[in-house]
Amino acid sequence: MWFDELAENSTDPQLVNDSKTPSGPVHVGSLRGVLIHDAVFRALRDRGIPARYTFGVDDYDPLDELPPVGAEELRPHLGKPLCDVPPPAGSPFADLAEHHISGFFDVFAELGVAAETYRVRDLYRSGTFDVEIDAILRNSSTVRRVYREVAGARRDDDWFPFQVICERCGRVGTTRVDGFTGDKVSYQCVPDLVTWATGCGNRGKVSPFSGRGKLPWKLEWVAKWNRFDITIEGAGKDHNTKGGSRSVAVRCLQEIFGKEPPVNIPYEFFLVKGAKMSSSRGVGVSARKMADLLAPELLRFLMVRSLPRRPVDFAPEYEKIVRLYDDFDRARARAAKPREHPQEARLTAIAEVKGTSPVYFAPPFDVVVGLVQFPHVDPVASATRMKGEPLTELELERLAARLASARFFLEHFAAESDRLKIQRDLPAAVRDLDAAQRVFLRQLADDLGRTDWSPEAVQTQIFGTARLVPIAQPAAFAAIYIALFAKDRGPKAGNILAFLDREWVCQRFASVPDARRFDFLAASSTPIEDVETWLAERAEHIIAVSARAEFICRSATPVPGASDFVRALGVLELTVTTVDGRVHLRRCALQTTEGYGATIAREKADFLEAAGDTVSSFGALTGHSVVLRVVET
Ligand SMILES: [Zn+2]
Repeated sequence: MWFDELAENSTDPQLVNDSKTPSGPVHVGSLRGVLIHDAVFRALRDRGIPARYTFGVDDYDPLDELPPVGAEELRPHLGKPLCDVPPPAGSPFADLAEHHISGFFDVFAELGVAAETYRVRDLYRSGTFDVEIDAILRNSSTVRRVYREVAGARRDDDWFPFQVICERCGRVGTTRVDGFTGDKVSYQCVPDLVTWATGCGNRGKVSPFSGRGKLPWKLEWVAKWNRFDITIEGAGKDHNTKGGSRSVAVRCLQEIFGKEPPVNIPYEFFLVKGAKMSSSRGVGVSARKMADLLAPELLRFLMVRSLPRRPVDFAPEYEKIVRLYDDFDRARARAAKPREHPQEARLTAIAEVKGTSPVYFAPPFDVVVGLVQFPHVDPVASATRMKGEPLTELELERLAARLASARFFLEHFAAESDRLKIQRDLPAAVRDLDAAQRVFLRQLADDLGRTDWSPEAVQTQIFGTARLVPIAQPAAFAAIYIALFAKDRGPKAGNILAFLDREWVCQRFASVPDARRFDFLAASSTPIEDVETWLAERAEHIIAVSARAEFICRSATPVPGASDFVRALGVLELTVTTVDGRVHLRRCALQTTEGYGATIAREKADFLEAAGDTVSSFGALTGHSVVLRVVET
């Protein structure tokens, strides 16, 4: 996996670093960088390489945008460092930065991200960056040249890479430093320096050290790299463009401090339905909500399974969530054979929060969503039956997480069509089932009465019954869902049925109105060409074939003074046994008659002749002698 490749060539102690500006409720996209760095950190440690993972809160950055909610309270604070802005009313936190980042760090804990966190305000105020601030200010002309050469950005000769926190209004985003004497900088709080905040016009001279101001964030990056000797730090694609902020930071580090930058992991955005999210604009899903929706190992899996350079596109919708859980479960199943599937073994190991084995039983997520909607069902007992033996402690824990995930989905994201409600009475939609679907359900009622009532056996029986009607599998499953839930899709039917009362299920299916035999034969017959193709594809696997000819007359209503109106159907039915022991049924309509003046006896004779010919040709096609039985109806 990509994280192992990255860790592979390291031997020295490594310091992995990432950071976040707490400008709003943190959206789920911000977790991508966090988990990419965490995967690398874990991969290093798994190789026995001494490593630390640090995560910085860039809380000296100015408030530069207003949120959709509570904008008016915040407007007077635009331009101030985030750590100097008061939190929303009722918040237990001391400032806006802590208010936003604390929830994010709660998610870290749930996801098993063991990063050491720090606040940039503390670094400035404690003087940790003073050496870097001094060096960068002394090399202001170098910074100006790098801006010009790398980013094509012109800075006047009296521009210095530092912003003072205005002594009068407390803003940092509006100040411009125009001189540096070695121990002091002169600055002005400019009314129109930026569009999003208004400076107060104050002028002053202060020491740039010990928290009186901050470096522009590209240089703050340089200061962190130099101060802490960070060896690995990735960045989102917006920072990695040619001439972009990372290139500027790298050149400044090289020219001012003579050091090489950390290993980069450029990563793509996390998209919700193809759209990028933004904290401050409140677009997208918050990290908190996604962590409540997905079990932690699933959220980790989602974020690290793709290469960092590929975007992750996800949305809290039924299909996408079910597919994610299914992908994860498939990877876990493969991880049970790590020699054959080393990639899946590594991926799932990194996804597991505590590094526990990914090999355990967990019911498929669509089934879990179904179970939590059946009030009388005990999910633990159900899962135990599905597994066939008692659940381990780990499995109970994982099941609980999936149940919570399913409930959260139903409460916050589910569309009405995602819900599964057992219909107390036979749904009206059953009327729209075709004749083959109705016959299938009635036959299934019979067959299920004799089946072992376990998820696997029930599922196998559904397939078996469908083969003998015959009916295409999607139509068969749709019929089951409609009869039980009045909707045409649902989780794996065998799993769901086995948790319902057998007698009730059988009664429900048996109560579906029967179809007329004529309609059923018409609905379940295919053109003869399809049957030929089907036989040809399986010819090698067929061990026996028998045939049955049925001629059925629906109506021959005498009309006074005219010939009789005849509606008749001649159907040839093949019962085919394949080497795997399965019995299949295929039905084709050889003759359909509809009109006046036909003679039933004549039609029937024609059909029987055609049936005889067809059976001979099927015999030649399969290499088996086919016995034809004629049924009178
Ligand atoms: Zn000011």
